[in-house]
Amino acid sequence: MVIDVHGPSCERNRSRDAGGVILGIESTAHTFSIGWVNGLGEPGKSHSAFVRPLEGGIHPREAADHHSENAGSILKKMLSEENISLKDIRAVAFSQGPGLGPCLRVGASVARSLSTKLDVPLVGVNHCVAHIEVGRERCGCDDPVLLYASGGNTQVIARLDGRYRVLGETLDIGIGNMLDKFAREQGIPFPGGPKIEKLALEWLESNPNASLKGLELPYAVQGMDLAFSGILNAALNLVANGKPLAAVCWSLQEHVFAACVEVAERAMAHAGKSELLLGGGVACNERLRSMCSIMAESRDSTSHVPIKPLCIDNGSMIATLGRLQLLWGEETKLSASGVRQDLRTDETEILWH
Ligand code: AMP
Ligand code: MG
Repeated sequence: MVIDVHGPSCERNRSRDAGGVILGIESTAHTFSIGWVNGLGEPGKSHSAFVRPLEGGIHPREAADHHSENAGSILKKMLSEENISLKDIRAVAFSQGPGLGPCLRVGASVARSLSTKLDVPLVGVNHCVAHIEVGRERCGCDDPVLLYASGGNTQVIARLDGRYRVLGETLDIGIGNMLDKFAREQGIPFPGGPKIEKLALEWLESNPNASLKGLELPYAVQGMDLAFSGILNAALNLVANGKPLAAVCWSLQEHVFAACVEVAERAMAHAGKSELLLGGGVACNERLRSMCSIMAESRDSTSHVPIKPLCIDNGSMIATLGRLQLLWGEETKLSASGVRQDLRTDETEILWH
């Protein structure tokens, strides 16, 4: 594999004006969101509706129904609150994959209708790549290793030879799904990640000398890959065996975040990169952020993370990538706009800087 030694330089993207407003529609899983960027790629606010199952996980068809029920009102609210008139819209970008088929199809249909009605280009984008590009554009890093930690995905990614390559990833469930499942078993509603973070912090505050003794969990690293379902079961067993819930939340975070950071560090070393970027909803977690900073600092590198509304799934990140594709002449014909449930990060050719 040839490494692009010059690296990209997204400064050049930032200074180019695509003109007008680019809308971005996100609907890969539990979130339906419409956001936007201006011609220079500066994001506006995303307007979103979230599926919050009362029990169990997300049912794809029920989530799709939720998205279609909310799409019209979200679009109206977004346009009026962001002061965007239809004639300002220069293009419509949408998450083409990966994700849950029924959910993806709702976003794609809304995007196709808007682009046809307004007679503006349609741009299908890769959701995982959008997490990277919004981070690069907003954090000012150029050529990072991305630790993408979200509900359904956990991947360590770097740009090598014109594509974002997955250097390591989960072999079973996403880290966020694991946290949500653990939380659900304890009666904590979706999304469980923020509540686990809160409990872990409370445990540490009341036990400043907290030790992992008696709270050990399996370690998730397998070569460059990760696995979380064994840890989930072990953590559930600790609670079932009487360990305090807050203590287990703390131990769970320490184990799984350390595993992710270890793989990210090895990826930085192998790929010769000196920037780390965090993305995905789990990147909202302060403990994960701090572990990443410590690791990056220890190897004279930098750690970056976008503001929280740009970490979770959002329409503005889709618009961010849509703008880049547009600047590089990539539009999506209606006939090629079918959704791609299993689209891989490295299937998308990266033409922009
Ligand atoms: P996403 O799939 O990228 O929209 O992210 C949603 C996931 O992020 C869910 O699994 C949440 O539980 C998780 N999440 C959100 N905030 C936090 C947090 N502060 N700590 C850990 N996980 C979080
Ligand atoms: Mg995501």
